[in-house]
Amino acid sequence: MAAHTEGEGAVEAAAESSAARRELAVRAAVAQGLVGGADAAEPLTCLLDIAGIRSSAAALTGAFAAATAPGTPVLHAFAVKAAPLVPVLRLLADAGLGCEVASPGELALARAAGVPAARTVLDSPAKTVAELREALALGIALNADNPQELARLDALVAAAAAPTAAPIGLRINPQTGAGTIDALSTATATSKFGIALRDPGARDWLVRAYLDRPWLTRLHIHSGSQGVPLALIAEGVRELHALAEEINAAAGRRQVDTLDIGGGLPVNFASDEETPTHAQYVAALREAVPALFDGSYGLVTEFGRSLLAKHGLVLARVEYTKTSGSRPIALTHAGVQLATRTAYAPAAWPVRILPYDAKGVPKAGDPVPQDIAGPACFAGDLLAVARELPRLAPGDLIGVPDTGAYFFTAHYGYNSLPRPAVHGFAITPSGEVRFRLVRPAQDVPSIVTEAGGDFRDALL
Ligand SMILES: *Cc1c(COP(=O)(O)O)cnc(C)c1O
Repeated sequence: MAAHTEGEGAVEAAAESSAARRELAVRAAVAQGLVGGADAAEPLTCLLDIAGIRSSAAALTGAFAAATAPGTPVLHAFAVKAAPLVPVLRLLADAGLGCEVASPGELALARAAGVPAARTVLDSPAKTVAELREALALGIALNADNPQELARLDALVAAAAAPTAAPIGLRINPQTGAGTIDALSTATATSKFGIALRDPGARDWLVRAYLDRPWLTRLHIHSGSQGVPLALIAEGVRELHALAEEINAAAGRRQVDTLDIGGGLPVNFASDEETPTHAQYVAALREAVPALFDGSYGLVTEFGRSLLAKHGLVLARVEYTKTSGSRPIALTHAGVQLATRTAYAPAAWPVRILPYDAKGVPKAGDPVPQDIAGPACFAGDLLAVARELPRLAPGDLIGVPDTGAYFFTAHYGYNSLPRPAVHGFAITPSGEVRFRLVRPAQDVPSIVTEAGGDFRDALL
C-alpha cells in the first residue's frame, strides 16, 4: 500500500532522513492496521527502521576501518542486551557485526541468529562454571571479571584435553569516575565490574596473572554507557592500552594481542540529530590513545545503544483524556512496561513525545502542558509530565522515538502487561512502507502460562 501523496522522487529524497521515514511508517502502520483507534487489534506497537539500523552499523564499521592500520582485526560485537531480538542480531550480522552476550539466554539468541562462535564475546560478572565450560568448548571469547572467576578458568583450562580456541581476557575497571547516571557508570572507584586497577597492589597482581597464564591474551574495559562523556571513556581505553604495553614488556612478547574497548557511546534523546557520532568517538580515541589504531592490537568493540536507540519507535493509542488538579492527562498504552527507566528515573531518561491524530498524521495545535501516562497501576507510570503538546484526544496516537535500545526490547512485566509486537519497516523506492514482523505481541494465554498457569494447584 502506497503511503505517500507526493511524487516518487520527492519521497525517495525524503526517505533518506530518519524523521521522514518515521512519518511515512506511522501513517502506514495505522493504514495497515498494526495499531490504531478503538477498533484496531493492538493499542500499541513498536517499529524498527531497518535502513536506520543499517546506516548506524555502517557508520560504526566505517569509522573504525578509516582509523585502523590495514589488516588490523576488528570485531564489532553488538551488546545483545540493548535489543535482544533474533532478527535484529541477524540484520547486524549481515551488516558485518558479531554479538556481545552476558547470559545463557543472550548466547542462545546470538546462536539462533547464526552468529558464529568466533564473532561472539561473553561478558557478565556472574558466569557459572557451566557457562564458562560451554564458552571454552565452543571457542567463544570471554572476559573474566574477577580473581575467583580466573581461578575457575585455571581449573577448566588445566582439565581440558586440548587447548581451548577461546580467547580469554580480564576485565579491568580503570576507576576513572562516574558520568551523569550513577546506575550506568561502570568505572567508579567502587564499581561492581572488573578488577579495580587503582586499588593497592592491583597492577602488579594483574601483570603477574598474565605472566603465569600464557593463555590470557586479551584485556577488556567498558567504562559505562549513557551519561559517560567521550573523554572519560577514552581515558579508560588509554589506561587499558598502557596496561597491555606493561604486560607485554614484562612478558617480553606480545602476549596481549587484542583490546576489547567495550561500548558506551551515548545517544541524544533530545532531537533527531545523531550525536555524538561513531566517527567522533573514534576521533576522541585517536587523540587520547593514538597507538590504539597502529595495528599492534586487534580490537573488539561492544556498542549497543548507539546502534539501535534512534531506530526504534513506540506507537500507542490515547485511550482516554481527563484533567486532574486542572492538569490535562492523556492515558495511553505506553508506560513503565516499555520505558521502565523513564518511569522510575524520569530525570535521567527523558523521552520525546510525538503527537499524531488517529490517522497517524502529526497533530498540530496550540501547545498545552499535559501529562502522558501509561496503563500501569502506580502513580509514577508517566512518560512525560506537563509536556507542551497539542491537546490530545481519545483515539490519537503518541509516538515515543529513540526507543530501539533498552526500552521496548527490555520488557518489564508489571501488571502482567503483554510484550508488544515489534515490526521492522523498510521503504521501497516508490515510497511504499513494508513491515516485517520481528516479534508478535504476547497473547494472554502465554501470560497465564508464564505465571504458573500449568501449576494451578501447586500451593494447595
Ligand atoms: C551494556 C554493555 C555494553 C553496551 O553498552 P552501550 O551503552 O549500550 O553501548 C557493552 N559492554 C558491556 C560489558 C556491557 O555491559
